[in-house]
Amino acid sequence: MKAIAVTPTDKQIGVINLAEPKLATPTDVKLRMIEAGVCGTDREICAFEYGTPPAGMEQLVIGHESLGEVVEVGAKVTRVKVGDLVVPMVRRPCPHDHCTACRSSRQDFCFTGDFTERGIKEQHGFMAQFIVDDEKYMNPVPADMRDVAVLVEPLTIAEKGLAQVWNIQQRLPWGCPIVPGKAKAHCHKAVVLGAGPVGLLGAMTLVNADFDTYVYAREPVPNPKASVLELIGAKYFSAETHPLEALAAEVGNIDLIYEATGASRLAFDMIQHLGTNGVFIFTGVPGRKAPVQVDTDLMMRNLVLKNQVVFGTVNAARETFEASIRDLHIFKNALPKAVQSLITGRFPMAAHRDLLIGKSSGIKNVIQLN
Ligand SMILES: [Zn+2]
Ligand SMILES: [Zn+2]
Repeated sequence: MKAIAVTPTDKQIGVINLAEPKLATPTDVKLRMIEAGVCGTDREICAFEYGTPPAGMEQLVIGHESLGEVVEVGAKVTRVKVGDLVVPMVRRPCPHDHCTACRSSRQDFCFTGDFTERGIKEQHGFMAQFIVDDEKYMNPVPADMRDVAVLVEPLTIAEKGLAQVWNIQQRLPWGCPIVPGKAKAHCHKAVVLGAGPVGLLGAMTLVNADFDTYVYAREPVPNPKASVLELIGAKYFSAETHPLEALAAEVGNIDLIYEATGASRLAFDMIQHLGTNGVFIFTGVPGRKAPVQVDTDLMMRNLVLKNQVVFGTVNAARETFEASIRDLHIFKNALPKAVQSLITGRFPMAAHRDLLIGKSSGIKNVIQLN
């Protein structure tokens, strides 16, 4: 079978031939991969910033945002059947008995760092024609989501973030009055930093919960991302025309900030505008650059005097994937055009170089694998 792989030792990227994986245990499932999304992580692996092949191998098959179809199941598989569409999870638990997170199937909170990740760290990824894995990492998807289900994995970032917000905010009376026809966040205001796929999917999740949602990003209007946001029902503000102060004045008390740029300067400038009882979610992973100046006195005063919480979030558990599938289905039915317009191109495997090392363009580009 064909797969897209990097060879970190000699900095090669290409389509390679690999033996088709086979079922190895009675709970294994084999998928014929339909497509895989390209994201910043894949591009960073292809810039050789990180990415580790499986032990004893030179090459790492990349790809972690994917959709496959079940073609074979082991004798003891009960979660999925042949013909089902499936989105596989990315992270696999570490082997240590003392890692209570991994031993509780919450490897997204692994304590030891010895987890593996398909397509990123010590396990082959999903930009391959076939994969095999245990059924416990397979999330079945309704057949009518075939055209958008590749967005399930990137949506888990917002889903996990928002689930934690609801947990964290149980520490105070943060709930909104019950209003028929309104979701539970209808009295809250949220700002999303960044209008890439993570930001757009985050905005969709927040609007779905009825947050009054503002998105702040670089590009001036009009642009395709601002148009998607208009369809979704979020308000777009360009940094070209609005300094952060103007945005903050427009919004009022900011209850939630969802960072989706990986730009620390912008994030820490924005933290200063977080409101009373507000929550700030970091999802981006910046590269290490020169230190930037931050007004730590102001930030610390606000954190204390405004009861603020700042947290970071990575990866996702099975329940997060299930929430992501459920919500993407809701988004697709409510806003089919907006959801479909997030996928800006579908390309054959042969086009991988442009997508992985060329200038990044569009919103979410997808590689077709079969
Ligand atoms: Zn990704
Ligand atoms: Zn662990």
